Amino acid sequence: MKGSLTIVGLGPGPKDWMTGAATATVDAATDILGYEAYVRRLVPGSDQSVHIFDNREELHRARRALELAVEGRRVALVSGGDPGVFGMAAAVFEAVETGPPAWRALDIRVEPGVTGMLAAAARLGAPLGHDFCAISLSDNLKPWTLIERRLQLAAEADFVIALYNPASKARPDQIVRAFQLLRHYRPDTTPVMLARAVGRPDEDITVTTLGAAGSHVADMRTLVIIGSSATSMIPRPDGRPWVYTPRSVEVS
Ligand code: SAH
Repeated sequence: MKGSLTIVGLGPGPKDWMTGAATATVDAATDILGYEAYVRRLVPGSDQSVHIFDNREELHRARRALELAVEGRRVALVSGGDPGVFGMAAAVFEAVETGPPAWRALDIRVEPGVTGMLAAAARLGAPLGHDFCAISLSDNLKPWTLIERRLQLAAEADFVIALYNPASKARPDQIVRAFQLLRHYRPDTTPVMLARAVGRPDEDITVTTLGAAGSHVADMRTLVIIGSSATSMIPRPDGRPWVYTPRSVEVS
């Protein structure tokens, strides 16, 4: 049997937010590899081998998946959201680039998924209706000074900004520092959205403003969206406002 490796996006959480192609790929795999929290979402068949990894071992996990594919296994390496957005797909290609030549001949595919940013935006209205960018606030793999520079330039360019990995136990206050920096470039009235655990039972969506945002806590399961100068809130009689960014912009 010729082996293969597919890096599969599981979407933000619920099974029905996984694509049909992603579900079919996982079902057809001989081996399922992934971080514990993601593998636990699946119901593997009795004939499937499940390999659970610690979240910090991304390159190790990628190499293990490639080795199994070389051995002729049909491997599904699962990743939350979309595997290409701050996910496992880049780790696999990094391993391929630096690994043995045989890995380049493998049948490697990427199966896309709904990324956190899109799930959050759907709950809020249409905050990503015009130009936007995505920045990870984690400084595990890049220096904080680079993150600050990108935040500054994104704010100056008036992008809507989606922040992945806004905070963790080890980095509780980087999101507060990010808000402080953005206040130099955007008015206090700028909409700020915190979407926690979208699609999960404990989902929690908050709409606030840049001026008030410091007091709201974000954690590692939160996606933060900061509006552009055009992003608008529509108040509603019940519940939180709709937030949207119009599709056209006039430059003054
Ligand atoms: N590949 C993933 C992102 C991995 S980085 C994807 O495409 O979504 C992990 C970050 O993704 C989290 O810190 C959070 O910012 C965001 N995220 C992923 N799923 C989420 C969800 N269901 N609700 C809120 N944020 C989510």
